[in-house]
Amino acid sequence: MLAVQGDVREHLRALEGLGVRTTTVRRTSELDACDGLVIPGGESTTMAKLARTFDLLEPLRQRVKEGLPAFGTCAGMIMLADRIEDGAVGQETVGGLDITVRRNAFGRQVDSFEGDLAFAGLDAPVHAVFIRAPWVEEVGPAVDVLARVEGGPVAGRIVAVRQGSLMATSFHPEVGGDARVHRLFVDLVESS
Ligand code: GLN
Repeated sequence: MLAVQGDVREHLRALEGLGVRTTTVRRTSELDACDGLVIPGGESTTMAKLARTFDLLEPLRQRVKEGLPAFGTCAGMIMLADRIEDGAVGQETVGGLDITVRRNAFGRQVDSFEGDLAFAGLDAPVHAVFIRAPWVEEVGPAVDVLARVEGGPVAGRIVAVRQGSLMATSFHPEVGGDARVHRLFVDLVESS
């Protein structure tokens, strides 16, 4: 777990519930010990700045480029995106996912909302909780779309993607006790 900022604890609980051995990452030596990385929700500008301050940003970019499986949720999705719309001036990311994300995309009126979504690879819908979430504006050819918003004014917007061993969701699968999306990531780590 990247643990410079954000909702680290909820993710750790979900992963530990699946029997995964977890560790928090705030320095390069901790990153070196990981077979997979989760980047939590939180505030992506702060997270990126802190990663830079802790001398973690370049090592993160390097490991992801070398194929480290990574799963980003919400702010973590922004961290894994190659391109940001409505980012802060000069906002940096780890990158790796050939996507453009729009920060705070759902707008002020619907800061937070919940809904059930079909999710590729899962039999039953996922209950998705969105909190000042981004959506994926554009995906490159190597990216698979895993889920879209269903119904309502923003139906069809992409909110979960995968590219090789990188996965990202706009919503917070660590909230609500359903670990199936985490399970998909753990499978990715195990098979890579
Ligand atoms: N709005 C936040 C950002 O831009 C993300 C929100 C979240 O992670 N819940 O970083």
